[in-house]
Amino acid sequence: MNKNGGGPGALPDPAERQPAGPVRTCLACGKKRINRELCRFAVDKEGYIVVDQEHRLGGRGAYACRGNACIHGFLKNKKKLSRAFRRQKVIIREDLYGILVSGVKNEQSQGLRTC
Ligand SMILES: [Zn+2]
Repeated sequence: MNKNGGGPGALPDPAERQPAGPVRTCLACGKKRINRELCRFAVDKEGYIVVDQEHRLGGRGAYACRGNACIHGFLKNKKKLSRAFRRQKVIIREDLYGILVSGVKNEQSQGLRTC
């Protein structure tokens, strides 16, 4: 007759504790992950999307998993981006792809954290 949750000596369940860090949603695939496991993007004054490598830029941010599929999906979906950033217009620099793709490749081959 052991019922769960009874008794004054019940310990808090460690599994219920939050993971280390705030959880954010990938804009591309919708998966929830800890902040640090995602690429953070911000938008500058002119509306250009920038990679927030240090997770330090102010303003609204949007997140994508660190992987080609999600990053490409993220950058393709301008409607979602403008909603996430609350901007009518977001501009994606052509070289942003290059920066991201080379960064992701580096990460995969060297285990570096790039964003
Ligand atoms: Zn994703």
